[in-house]
Amino acid sequence: MKKLMAANWKMYKTRAEAEQTARELVSLLDGKLPADREVLVAPPFIGVDAVAGAFSGKAGYHLAGQNFYPSGQGAFTGEIAPEMLLDLGCDFALAGHSERRHIMGETDEFIGKKVAFGLEAGLSMILCVGELLEERKGGQVEAVLTAQLEAGLAGVEKGLDPDRLAVAYEPVWAIGSGLTAGPKEIAEAHRFVRDLLCAILGENGSKTRILYGGSVKPGNCGEIIRIDNVDGVLVGGASLSATSFSEIVLA
Ligand code: PEP
Repeated sequence: MKKLMAANWKMYKTRAEAEQTARELVSLLDGKLPADREVLVAPPFIGVDAVAGAFSGKAGYHLAGQNFYPSGQGAFTGEIAPEMLLDLGCDFALAGHSERRHIMGETDEFIGKKVAFGLEAGLSMILCVGELLEERKGGQVEAVLTAQLEAGLAGVEKGLDPDRLAVAYEPVWAIGSGLTAGPKEIAEAHRFVRDLLCAILGENGSKTRILYGGSVKPGNCGEIIRIDNVDGVLVGGASLSATSFSEIVLA
């Protein structure tokens, strides 16, 4: 299973900045990307085309949409369709990021609809899950992950190519806060997600990548990536600089 090293640029970077960062990243990783690692970048929509140009012809690079609306086309002002992301060169998309759950108010069920619709349209999907601090303090981590995974994966066929689906465990309290979950917390949560994936998807659950996200940096990635059932990382802040993200990719 190749480790998926994913960058989420959120609402940062102009088109020119996105292109420059992507070209710098490719150049820093040139000849160094290990055969068992893959790189993914999710730029804001206006930067997707520019990053596609920088990644063109490079093996081991994926391009993701940060979001889409689960419909083919239509009167959905401000939204973008999976087909449009594919047309721009994306092969992946995110769903269920905590900022969409907790700022935009997306529900577990709507996120499940997106995962199923994106897969059906031909995108590979990263489903993000994770608990709030008060949910962790209240001993609800497993209940929250179960609800988010069961609804998020409700429309996923058991026979799906496991490379087309990843789950990112991102404790909300660790996102953008500088707080990272400890190795024990990460190992426990990833073990729990793995068991649930196997219960939901059968054999494919053991082959589905589980990424960790939450204040991953060059200095902590080496330890995190070697924890059992950590098959990659999803990085926000520290992925905005090509130098820092290249160090994470190679950690
Ligand atoms: C994220 O946006 O998914 C994320 C994990 O952000 P950060 O690395 O900044 O915590």
